[in-house]
Amino acid sequence: MHLVIIGNGITGVSCALTVRRLSPEARITLVSEETPHHFSRTALMYVYMGHMRAQDIKPYEDWFWLENRLELVYATATALDAGRKTIHLSTGPPLTYDKLLLATGSVSRLAGWPGQHLPGVQGLYSLPDLEQMHRDTHGIRQAVVVGGGLIGIELAEMLHSRGIAVTMLVRDSRYWGSVLPPEEAALIELQLRAHHTTVHYGTELAEILPDDTGRVRAVRTTQGTELPCQWVGLATGVAPNLALARTCPTLETDRGILVDAHLQTSLPDVYAAGDCAQHRQPGADEVPIEQLWYTGRMQGETVAYTICGQPTPYQRGPWFNSAKFFQLEYQTYGRVPAEATAGEQTCYWQHPNGRHALRINYRPGQGNAVTGVNALGIRQRHDVWESWLRAGTPVQEVLAQLRRANFDPEFFRRHEPAILRTFNQQLLSKSN
Ligand SMILES: Cc1cc2nc3c(=O)[nH]c(=O)nc-3n(C[C@H](O)[C@H](O)[C@H](O)COP(=O)(O)OP(=O)(O)OC[C@H]3O[C@@H](n4cnc5c(N)ncnc54)[C@H](O)[C@@H]3O)c2cc1C
Repeated sequence: MHLVIIGNGITGVSCALTVRRLSPEARITLVSEETPHHFSRTALMYVYMGHMRAQDIKPYEDWFWLENRLELVYATATALDAGRKTIHLSTGPPLTYDKLLLATGSVSRLAGWPGQHLPGVQGLYSLPDLEQMHRDTHGIRQAVVVGGGLIGIELAEMLHSRGIAVTMLVRDSRYWGSVLPPEEAALIELQLRAHHTTVHYGTELAEILPDDTGRVRAVRTTQGTELPCQWVGLATGVAPNLALARTCPTLETDRGILVDAHLQTSLPDVYAAGDCAQHRQPGADEVPIEQLWYTGRMQGETVAYTICGQPTPYQRGPWFNSAKFFQLEYQTYGRVPAEATAGEQTCYWQHPNGRHALRINYRPGQGNAVTGVNALGIRQRHDVWESWLRAGTPVQEVLAQLRRANFDPEFFRRHEPAILRTFNQQLLSKSN
């Protein structure tokens, strides 16, 4: 079998390594236009901030690929001819495949603002983006970041680390208002203030303005304010990269490449996984397009089994995400909606210093089963929360065993009485 994988991100590489293990004889070719070798996209910010060198974010030595008989092609896959089972490349001869995995990831989503293509204006997705940001922010004083999500705050932290004054434009009335409840958002806002980041809430970008040389000199907001800046970071989300998929009219796409439970596309022997895939029938509480590192790895590993003749549906399990907002670590397991929802109750504890918080949601109508947790500045154990969420463990039992989920015994010894006192009081008042 010749397996061709387009994209050497976490999804493509996880698939390649799993197929190598399951099928030692398979011929495997990985095609990538971004970098010759796989790297950790999530660590890009640390390269900019000087905490790591570019070679440090490659999880495998360069000899690893040859040693494991993984053929690497550094080129753009320009066209998919499904009838001939052939991939055309920007350089070199075409590749014929027996099985094909499309793992083409995402691209930054731009809203078509006037001036979005000016020099000094960009998104951050790829290593070339990072190199461009490095060049274009050298020696500047002011930057504007558009978008209040995870990449927006990463950009703010990166720029702040170089002493650049940052202004963020955030459409919602609070930070990451579509995801975080108001209390958690307020703690992130404390971090932003502590790191001298000015945030304009309820504000969108209207236009990016050039100077005499054509470089960005300012942005104008929807409020009509003009903010001088020498660099603009566009962080308003990502969209599946469909450039290759669109060259094949028989491959069904919507916002992403449409896949079934086995990550199979509308074409025989062609699969799609990771950021570029859109699930036709996502499970309850699941989103059709998952744009996360760990879901990319899970999808890559799962599709490898199907490719090797062991059909395996993709089942993600309870939602999980983590991030770091400047100094504040964030973890979420299960579902914690940004706004209170009918049939669900919440317990919330926050340390007076604003650097630790814990929220647990549960459903009184279903035996008080826990449905999700948000932890800020308190590290929780993934396996413990996953088992509680899968089992629908009652919140009282979770509180009695909360120590099990805590990663840091010292933290828990200090704060356990206060957390439990607050939660038990709230449970009592809600049940009355
Ligand atoms: C700055 C940043 C920080 C992030 N931080 C986090 C985080 O903390 N936690 C988290 O869970 N997620 C994070 N993410 C998201 C996460 O990185 C992605 O979900 C994940 O990388 C997707 O993996 P993938 O393999 O599906 O796609 P990608 O990593 O995008 O890899 C796809 C590869 O395919 C290549 N490619 C595309 N088309 C072609 C073609 N036609 N020919 C050849 N090559 C092609 C692309 O150039 C790319 O190299 C972050 C993303 C960014 C941009």
